Amino acid sequence: MSGMPSLKLSERAVDFINEDFINGLLAGKRPDASRVREIIAKSLAKEALSVEETAVLLRADTPELNEEIFETARQLKKNVYGNRIVLFAPLYIGNKCVNDCSYCAFKRSNTLAIRRTLTDPEIRQQVEALESKGHKRLILVFGEHQAYDAEFIANSVRAVYETKVGHGEIRRVNINAAPLDHEGYATVKAAGIGTYQIFHETYHHDTYAHIHPANTRKGDYLYRLDGLSRAFEAGCDDVGLGVLFGLYDWKFEVMSLVTHALYLQDRYNVGPHTISFPRLRPASGVDIDEKYLVNDADFKKLIAVLRLAVPYTGLILTARENAELRRECMSFGVSQIDAGSRIELGGYTEAGDAQVMEREQFSLGDVRSLDEVMQELMADGYVPSFCTSCYRVGRTGEHFMEFSIPGFIKEYCTPNALLTLEEYLVDYASQETRKVGEKLIAEELAKLPEGDTKDMVVKRLKSIKESGDHDIYF
Ligand code: SAM
Ligand code: SF4
Repeated sequence: MSGMPSLKLSERAVDFINEDFINGLLAGKRPDASRVREIIAKSLAKEALSVEETAVLLRADTPELNEEIFETARQLKKNVYGNRIVLFAPLYIGNKCVNDCSYCAFKRSNTLAIRRTLTDPEIRQQVEALESKGHKRLILVFGEHQAYDAEFIANSVRAVYETKVGHGEIRRVNINAAPLDHEGYATVKAAGIGTYQIFHETYHHDTYAHIHPANTRKGDYLYRLDGLSRAFEAGCDDVGLGVLFGLYDWKFEVMSLVTHALYLQDRYNVGPHTISFPRLRPASGVDIDEKYLVNDADFKKLIAVLRLAVPYTGLILTARENAELRRECMSFGVSQIDAGSRIELGGYTEAGDAQVMEREQFSLGDVRSLDEVMQELMADGYVPSFCTSCYRVGRTGEHFMEFSIPGFIKEYCTPNALLTLEEYLVDYASQETRKVGEKLIAEELAKLPEGDTKDMVVKRLKSIKESGDHDIYF
């Protein structure tokens, strides 16, 4: 139990992480190949997996079965979701924090951390810098502090949306911040937020208690676990889950993520919009216990298993990982990545290329520019997308629709991705990237079925290129 006064939970709030149940499923013997293949077939038939079935995939550890799981993830990515990758950038607003999470440079006991909160003019300056690179989606990141209450978060969101430079504008603002109460979620929702992300860090109770001191707000396991349920009750049905991999056994955490996703789906009829799977990184003032660090092979497997288990959920791979690994993992069903990221406060205008550990939360593995990442993605055959159309026209559950409505991707996602890509190429791309991009657009157009939609895409691409039209979408 936390030493903090308890706050109001969601109706019927319950700790749904049953460790004995999860451990029992993980302890089973190596599954038969036929059982694994049955589950793979279910996944390919676009059905979400149960926790029992997820455990079978996690227990399948022969090279042949692992390869079949990876191949299924690649196939799902290719045949079901298409080749789009959504791009975003993080914007750190403030690193004051009342918590003392052992792994984080922002923890209150870290006297080395340089504390700072961006003012409104500073937020605008950062956003202008991001827009000038071509970004359209941001995630705002906050420490947990009384200065960063819901009203403060909502103000920051409004400041971002109001900032426009040239053709640049931010069309979607997501949040990664402490859990709020019902009223708080309603406040940030009214400011027009996209996804509200809360990572549970580790679902293992003892580990959680060990690294989040009881006399801190975050030390209250149930309050955090219940955080996104309160968001749903307050009307925010676009939420993101996550685990900080490296704190406890990765298989247990995957099972818990799936449990959490199914719980939300069951209780609110909507699953999480995204799942993030950051791995623990070196950070200023942090001693990392290496016992549970996740190696690259296991990391790839966990992404593939998540892809199979939660088909309606977007998967986010962050720049904590290096460029080479990101490139490889992209094929397993990742749908969003950040690019050109700087995580030191004010980093988009003030810092040079070197990372300054005292000013940031952890060190990044991929600090390439947005343009470089775009170019590589396109050279690999992916279509980078800045599309935000579903949210803006009120088509919620975007990932669900992509997956479940036949023809949705061809009708909406690909055309919108191509239009936002063309905007980027015209406004922000380097010459080389523009060349690669125009070639990719031509190839993608050739793949679109003949008909009204294709004719309209061709017309709209021309109007972006030749008449400078912007922000047109299906
Ligand atoms: N303060 C809020 C919270 O804790 O939920 C939100 C923002 S926190 C700055 C964002 C996330 O960064 C945390 O949820 C955690 O998973 C991740 N993080 C913290 N320390 C990290 C580290 N050393 N390496 C990688 N990720 C880390
Ligand atoms: Fe604060 Fe979040 Fe870092 Fe914990 S993870 S110390 S709550 S910023």
